[in-house]
Amino acid sequence: MRTVFAIILLGFFGVSYGQHQDKVDFLHAEVTVEPLPDTGEVKGSVTYTFKVLKDVDSVFLDAHDMVFEKLRIGKRRASFSQTRDRIVLFDRFKGGKTYRLSMDYTARPKQTLYFLGWQDDVPDNEQIWTQGQGKYTSHWLPSFDAMEEKVEFDLNIIARRPYEVVANGAFRYRKALSESRSLWSFDMKDPMSSYLLAFVIGRYDRQELRSRSGVPIINYYYPHDSLKVEPTYRHTQRIFDFLEEEIGVAYPWQNYKQVPVRDFLYAGMENTGTTIFSDTYVIDSTAFVDKNYVNVNAHELAHQWFGDLVTEKDGKHHWLHEGFATYYAYLAERHLFGDDHFYWKLFETAQELRQMSEAGRGQALTDPKASSLTFYEKGAWALAILRDRVGDAAYRKGVEAYLNKYRFKNVTVQNFIREIERSAQTDLSGYTDKWLSSTSFPWEEAKAFLLKNSPSVRLFFTKAGSDRFLLPWLREAGPPAYKKALIGAFEDQIVREGQALEMLGDPNWEIRQRAIQLVDSLPEAHRPQAEALLADKSYVTQETALYKLWSAFPEHRTAYLERTKDIQGLPNKNVRLLWLTLAIFTQEYQPGRTQAYFNELTGYTSPLHSWEVRLTAFQYLGEMGLDDTGLLNLMAATVHHSWQFKKYARNLVDQLWSDPAYKKRMEGLFKELNQEELRYMKTKTYN
Ligand SMILES: [Zn+2]
Repeated sequence: MRTVFAIILLGFFGVSYGQHQDKVDFLHAEVTVEPLPDTGEVKGSVTYTFKVLKDVDSVFLDAHDMVFEKLRIGKRRASFSQTRDRIVLFDRFKGGKTYRLSMDYTARPKQTLYFLGWQDDVPDNEQIWTQGQGKYTSHWLPSFDAMEEKVEFDLNIIARRPYEVVANGAFRYRKALSESRSLWSFDMKDPMSSYLLAFVIGRYDRQELRSRSGVPIINYYYPHDSLKVEPTYRHTQRIFDFLEEEIGVAYPWQNYKQVPVRDFLYAGMENTGTTIFSDTYVIDSTAFVDKNYVNVNAHELAHQWFGDLVTEKDGKHHWLHEGFATYYAYLAERHLFGDDHFYWKLFETAQELRQMSEAGRGQALTDPKASSLTFYEKGAWALAILRDRVGDAAYRKGVEAYLNKYRFKNVTVQNFIREIERSAQTDLSGYTDKWLSSTSFPWEEAKAFLLKNSPSVRLFFTKAGSDRFLLPWLREAGPPAYKKALIGAFEDQIVREGQALEMLGDPNWEIRQRAIQLVDSLPEAHRPQAEALLADKSYVTQETALYKLWSAFPEHRTAYLERTKDIQGLPNKNVRLLWLTLAIFTQEYQPGRTQAYFNELTGYTSPLHSWEVRLTAFQYLGEMGLDDTGLLNLMAATVHHSWQFKKYARNLVDQLWSDPAYKKRMEGLFKELNQEELRYMKTKTYN
């Protein structure tokens, strides 16, 4: 049996940056777009106002596969040339003059803008949403791949009724264009890079909050999810108030909106004032302990300053986005959950970074090709250490000066370091060499920092030096993360000696969860404790307990299935999918319904479900066997827009393809595939 694996991705993007034109400055854009779900096209018009800084005979915009009509500079028809990804306009542009460029266009975005749920019969699941970073807004709007071109973008979005539209900026008005279409108008007051443009169209209700400073915070949710609003958005206002206070610079945009969407590419994306996040973070209160939105919530909000207000010049300065967002999210979590939470989180990431570094795979924070572990976690560490070295007051004063000096501009690592050097009146070249430019992770300094600040980390290092793990340690005072670290340090002994059984009744749910995961075989004497875990307040614990009990006590299988038959579990339906698998394999349980359970499990592989649900269902069915419906859903998944899911599906197809019987069945189903799916599957037949 394969367990569900967690995919932790806050949004990591391949590095590629557009070319910046320094003789013109684009100031404002009035944009109107209408996405057309039936054809997958976008009809748009945009008027740019730009200032020419120096005489120049052409300007360009990035624009992928667009058809233009009515191009005008001022009132004159503009002459232009076009390639697959760029449009160049020719004129004798005079330095010091301001021009207006307007164009109508049609785009057919292959990426960046996604239509979901328009081809099925399920009511109200239709969505259209964008992802600019790493995907380029220039697929749906002629704009700028270079992050250095910041423009005040005012969006007007035309959508079918009765869908809701969410976009960057303050809502201005909505106007009915016809029986079936409305135009939604939004106003931005300040400039941003093109990759931060965003909109979402779908069926949503909203919860409105206000920060202590008066900023409107709008949390969107699907109409059927009203009971999940509280656990999903828990602590939102405290996070917002904390970050404003901690950063020392007022939230820079007119409002803040958070919108969940289906099958999102990452955990979340910090579009200006408009965070879009994966609806797999929309949870009930039991799931809160297993997987919640708090960290992503704080991370994307921190980006509103670090990334959106001040934006990196290019990928060499990516630390200024991800390291900062990660660090400030940890600070927000410390504010909510306490010091132990903070230091143990840093302890855990330090272990990973140390391993990577000692294996010779360490990376410098200034390397534009560094991994997400480096940019996010080493990046957060670098800030924790910097603050420790210069002191709270100088650190915060420097951050404030940095944000105020470069607001709405682009920045380099040096720009930031200079501001801290100034506020701390110190030379940071030693720090920069060790923490930013070096590929190794300075474990000794990190460890000293943890030992200095966290009593439970100190205690851990004392106990971890012992010969043996002692169960009474778990009954002593100490945070769960400390106890879990001890269990981790002595895991071999604990498994070998069956000590995990003694932890099944621990008062802390995290220890109970770790215990049931580590239990090899369950003896009768511990059955009641393990059975109690079927109702523990964690879906991960429930899932593990169900599987271990079902395996250990065949005579009680029916009872276990009866007890858990109504549980769905996490948003990826972890408990339900395991339950169906076990029900299928339990001959004495509801024998007349075995086929129905198999069909239900297969149904979860369909595009009507999020890719996380589909992936888990494929994991079970891949071992059990796929029927034709499952195979069709699998072949459809090979061209899904989420690369993690696509990769998984392609691997499973390869695995099945090597079995002649499966190969023949899949080929027999080719006639039911669409063009894109068929094109991919045909690449198999030539190999
Ligand atoms: Zn981020």
